[in-house]
Amino acid sequence: MREPSLLRFYVSREWLNKFNTFAEPGPITNHTFLCSHGGIPPNKYHYIDDLVVILPQNVWEHLYNRFGGGPAVNHLYVCSVCQVEIEALAKRRRIEIDTFIKLNKAFQAEESPSVIFCISMQWFREWEAFVKGKDNEPPGPIDNSRIAQVKGGGHIQLKQGADYGQISEETWAYLHGLYGGGPEIAVRQSVAQPQDLDGLHGEQKIEAETRAL
Ligand SMILES: [Zn+2]
Repeated sequence: MREPSLLRFYVSREWLNKFNTFAEPGPITNHTFLCSHGGIPPNKYHYIDDLVVILPQNVWEHLYNRFGGGPAVNHLYVCSVCQVEIEALAKRRRIEIDTFIKLNKAFQAEESPSVIFCISMQWFREWEAFVKGKDNEPPGPIDNSRIAQVKGGGHIQLKQGADYGQISEETWAYLHGLYGGGPEIAVRQSVAQPQDLDGLHGEQKIEAETRAL
């Protein structure tokens, strides 16, 4: 006769499925529903019943002794450390997106900016995915290497056909201050004569077109 156990153990449903399917399910993998602090990640808490199965103590002990792994879980709680981190991340996203919008609005209002900064769209899309919450991880340092071309004397120019976006000096300074990276690619407005445009080719023309924007 089975005595009712005092402790209830939660085990990963995923692991239990493996146990039911395979002869050698490997060690118990309860960390798949736990965060690194041993609690339930806040984003998993609302469907935690789908992730765990409750076992009586004697069954847990049998499985644990045979397969190892773990850890033992007797209490499911939302991790407060993760909760604080999530709130801080949400705040960071909001600040970055709001600041960008504000700076970009000011840039749009400038009739003829004396300088325009170029940013790799590949990096920008990563940043955008992060601030919009589509990507959990923030991007690494700004990487303009794919859109940059080093000219004689170490002068850095925009590469022809580069996938880039135009931002203001202030927006560049803001993003660069947060993420670092480079190189800096600045297109300066100079006195370009419109009638000269037809005679230009290749990179020169690209530069001129960029100026004209
Ligand atoms: Zn946590």
